[in-house]
Amino acid sequence: MTRDRQPAGECPKCQGLNFFCMHNHFERDDLVIDSWEHRCTDCGHRITRGYRSDDPPEDLEGIDPHVCPWCSRSGAFQPPQS
Ligand SMILES: [Zn+2]
Ligand SMILES: [Zn+2]
Repeated sequence: MTRDRQPAGECPKCQGLNFFCMHNHFERDDLVIDSWEHRCTDCGHRITRGYRSDDPPEDLEGIDPHVCPWCSRSGAFQPPQS
């Protein structure tokens, strides 16, 4: 499990700056899960999005699971370059 957390600017709910972007990467056998979370530690505002390698391919079309869907940063985990 890879975890990484970065500041994500201003909370859209309380405008506080304790707002973080978190990325978890998980692999087991041939299942790969990337989950993204934006969370404010002040007011608890939270949004999440997860991508699984066993999701239907059309759900992942045009999506890079290693890029945050909200702030577009790349996660610390990167797939090997081929
Ligand atoms: Zn907040
Ligand atoms: Zn983000």
